[in-house]
Amino acid sequence: MNRTLRCLAVAGLLLASACARAEAPFSFATTPGALPKDVVPIEHVVHLVPDAAAHRFRGEQRVLLEVRRTTREIHLHALELEVTSASLSGNGMPRTVLGAPRVDADKQMLVFTPPRALRPGRYRLAMAWRGVINTAAEALFLDPYRSPAGERALLATDFEPSGARRLLPCWDEPAFRARFRFSVDLPAASTAVSNMPATRREPVAGGLVRTTFAATPSMPSYLIALVAGELERTEGVADGTRIGIVTTEGKRASAAFALAAAQELLHDFNGYFGTPYPLPKLDHIALPGGFQGAMENWGAIIYNEATLLVAPGGSEQSMQRVYGTVAHETAHQWFGNLVTMAWWDDLWLNEAFATWMATRASNRFHPQWQVWLDAALRRDEAMALDARPTTHPVRQPINKESEAESAFDDITYEKGAGFLRMLEDHLGEAAFRDGIRAYVARHRGSNTTAADLWAALGAASGQPVAEIASAWIEAPGFPLLSVDARCEAGQRVVGLRQSAFRAEPASARASAEPSTLWRVPVRIGTAGGVGGESILLDGASAEVTQRAGCDDALLVDPGNVGYFRVRYSQPLFDALLARWPALPDSARLKLGADSAALLQSGQQPLASHLALMARVPDEPRLAISSRVLSDLALLGGIADEAAKPAVRRYAIGLLKPRFAALGWSERAGESSEERLLRPRLAMALAEADDAETLVEGRVRFARSLAEPQSVPASMTTAVAQIAARGADAATWEQLRARAERALATEDKFRDYGALAAAKDPALAERTMALATAVEVPQLVRHRLLAAVARAGHREAAWAYAQAHASALLADVKRYDNGKTFAAIAQGSASAAMADRLVAFAQAELPADALPEIRRTEDEIRTRARLQARLLPELKAALGVTPL
Ligand SMILES: [Zn+2]
Repeated sequence: MNRTLRCLAVAGLLLASACARAEAPFSFATTPGALPKDVVPIEHVVHLVPDAAAHRFRGEQRVLLEVRRTTREIHLHALELEVTSASLSGNGMPRTVLGAPRVDADKQMLVFTPPRALRPGRYRLAMAWRGVINTAAEALFLDPYRSPAGERALLATDFEPSGARRLLPCWDEPAFRARFRFSVDLPAASTAVSNMPATRREPVAGGLVRTTFAATPSMPSYLIALVAGELERTEGVADGTRIGIVTTEGKRASAAFALAAAQELLHDFNGYFGTPYPLPKLDHIALPGGFQGAMENWGAIIYNEATLLVAPGGSEQSMQRVYGTVAHETAHQWFGNLVTMAWWDDLWLNEAFATWMATRASNRFHPQWQVWLDAALRRDEAMALDARPTTHPVRQPINKESEAESAFDDITYEKGAGFLRMLEDHLGEAAFRDGIRAYVARHRGSNTTAADLWAALGAASGQPVAEIASAWIEAPGFPLLSVDARCEAGQRVVGLRQSAFRAEPASARASAEPSTLWRVPVRIGTAGGVGGESILLDGASAEVTQRAGCDDALLVDPGNVGYFRVRYSQPLFDALLARWPALPDSARLKLGADSAALLQSGQQPLASHLALMARVPDEPRLAISSRVLSDLALLGGIADEAAKPAVRRYAIGLLKPRFAALGWSERAGESSEERLLRPRLAMALAEADDAETLVEGRVRFARSLAEPQSVPASMTTAVAQIAARGADAATWEQLRARAERALATEDKFRDYGALAAAKDPALAERTMALATAVEVPQLVRHRLLAAVARAGHREAAWAYAQAHASALLADVKRYDNGKTFAAIAQGSASAAMADRLVAFAQAELPADALPEIRRTEDEIRTRARLQARLLPELKAALGVTPL
């Protein structure tokens, strides 16, 4: 049942509390999914024998299962598995050989039909099968890499949301929890890691060694993990839990940062959640090749190596990335693993919470990184998506698992996390934490819906949390708060009015659509920091009396925690601008972001926004400078050929004084933010074709080939990018050779990624050829064409992708098909490019890829309309004379 659509179908203004009541707490019986609920697994005892050379494996298992209602059939998931034998026994039934199962290809299920109906009780289902080891990083796969000893490969797994059915026949939906006891036969040189510690290693026939693991707690199948190969483990302890950083051989030295972070975080999270981490060990495993990102498998988290390892002397960017990722995945050990969303429509429960918790932890242990400001930038990107018609609610109906794969997007992660941030601010830190503790304690080892979380937070805070949450989670979009004020008897009366914020000037049709009303938690303070109590705007408009008087400038949402935009009346806006440098960092960031969003939606003149951007040379905060860089990218994205040189000159004029003050080299005593800003400014100047920066970057790159230490770690990516941007064939070749020699995944990503920045069309052609070259790591191959497109060669990259479509499609994971092609077209402002993207997708891609394609199409068409509206204003502002 699509609850959201039912709610939105109500005409006129709508307070979404009725929708919140529609969502029920978790109940196994009513949880969506395709599996019948009359047979449930209790324990799988699984034995696997991989044959890596043949890309095949054999498996066998005994499943203890419970029949809850008399049934004639046993349904369970399997995909690309060939079952070779099966038998059933128990509940008074002797061992009975089962006939070949019926295959329901559409549901990816096997259906066994025993000779007699099964009465309620416990049974053992035994079976054997054969399956496939993949080359793309999905299900059970081989992960190739280069080691000092030569070419190697790890065996690894990645299952979320529905890959486990490609390893073993199982009940592959998150509400079907079971225990898993694994054993695996591997060559003697291999070490195997799984969710639980190994309990035994013994030689078996064929020169293999059998590793047996302890039983997992009851858990969803998507959390199963198995990694094997020539591994080494660096170990520490936190609160009695053994913490391991597992790498391929020879990389132990790069594990130290992650180990310290993992220990610190586990201890902190044990305290926050109030329920200690329940497994005896927690491994963090670095995969060197084609696996992207990280996956929170219980007790055995996998990462791409570049998001886990930091080489000795590595950059602060790397540390920040690794710390945030380890924190996110560690948070999932509770939020996701110990307590799991009932169905994929509540995926955001897992992801939004882990995203919020990671920022909280990074801020706590590394305040110098100013991560809340960074999180606000990511939230702003989600808001840009969320203001367009192709957005979706955080909680969205998922009919089958293939739809779940498209739910892993910025709305799920960042809007969800943004809402939790706003909610915590409103409820108070202690009440929010107490609610989370109660929720984890109550639902540990089970599943939940959002309603369970709201109930716990509501009980802890005494606030109507379900009502507050409903519109933010169940409806698409977010509000714009229009703010004005008047002074009465020395007190300021603040007027607030909410309306749905739209990315573009509303058409007559859109204006006539029913609009959601949100319950908006909002703080109303002043520029000087007075006041700021959180109130709840729960109607279309409200008036609030501010006792602080009328002298200081009014400041709405001073902490920038609101998932909404603010539009001040002109006098209020001018008063804030007059106090600009003294405003809190969070407020300067929000004013700039709101101004950029209002500019794009046709509610703010370009000149006002340029006046805000012009303040960046004096801006101390990295995140605010980064925001201005994205404004410059926006202007570059809508500039036509006539306007491009003027936009570049404008960018250079804005950025160069700040970069000149920072210099190319790190200085003793500088802040983290200065160290992180330097490379971003340098790369932006190179992108604007600043001749001096391009020359200096090339000189520094040439020197670094002989003396790697001559470029500080924080600048190696920027120097490689800048050298590549202005590269000749010899420089391009030097960079390519360094990329090929590199052993660390991070270094390979850096150098291959830099090659794509080349401005020379001939070099862009050579870079594109690498997108189908086997010696290039798979993840890099997938991203190269999009990077070449961004560097100014979009037409050429699209043409290359068309000419090599079948090779590219065969190379990527099936659900990345849409993303790979969408990314090439993405930055375009051409409606013709949108047409070509859609035509290609309809002809060549599976239907599941279309939502991603539609979002990108929408983004391109929105940019094309923005160009039509804004370009004349931009040209006038920058003094571009007609050609
Ligand atoms: Zn996650």
